Amino acid sequence: MTISPALLPQLIGAIVDVIENNAHEVTALDQAIGDGDHVINLQRGLQALMGEREALSQLDWPAAWQKIGMTLMSSIGGASGSLYGTLFIALSKAGKGQAITLQSFADIFSLGVDAVKLRGKAEAGEKTMLDVYIPVADYLRAAVAEGAALPAILAAIPQVAIVGMESTRDMIATKGRASFLEERSRGHIDAGAKTGQLMICAIVDVLLAQLDGTD
Ligand code: ADP
Ligand code: MG
Repeated sequence: MTISPALLPQLIGAIVDVIENNAHEVTALDQAIGDGDHVINLQRGLQALMGEREALSQLDWPAAWQKIGMTLMSSIGGASGSLYGTLFIALSKAGKGQAITLQSFADIFSLGVDAVKLRGKAEAGEKTMLDVYIPVADYLRAAVAEGAALPAILAAIPQVAIVGMESTRDMIATKGRASFLEERSRGHIDAGAKTGQLMICAIVDVLLAQLDGTD
């Protein structure tokens, strides 16, 4: 089975829904240790993507990632806008000129996450969205290297994302607004890690349903 950008309208729709359904909970997280605007920021970006979803579905992956990155960067703005924008623009750069397969995507996604680390000057363990994206990228590369098949990989990813999201609870934030709270940032899940986990789980659900339909 090939996963083509024709799936993008469905993927974007699923992400819009999961963020909407968890908006209250995530806003409370960002209010506890940030400024409370994370969901609104993200929704602004997602609404912009909704407007482009049909156009995106006509592109190839690298072109779609480029357009998604530019759209997120300009519509979200602020710290997280540049991080999401950087992720997708880096995916596009890494994927340009090659076939997008499970194997190549594992490397492309890792390069995208590396670009976010550089952009945010952040590593794992700093209580950010990266505490979800880094373990998922690492898992994906390791699973592909071991020869795991797509259904097994998809089945395993949600748990990796959830463990990463949960791990931010006991961390002290050293990046972003939450870092101003120092020790008091402990005890709250990071909002960007939570939305990262929710979005990854929503993507996995769409892809698993797609696999079911074609097997
Ligand atoms: P802002 O911080 O500008 O209010 P948001 O509220 O939309 O932006 O996003 C906050 C999220 O961004 C945090 O929960 C965290 O996950 C992530 N974040 C903040 N700073 C960084 C950074 N330097 N590197 C990676 N992620 C970061
Ligand atoms: Mg905020």
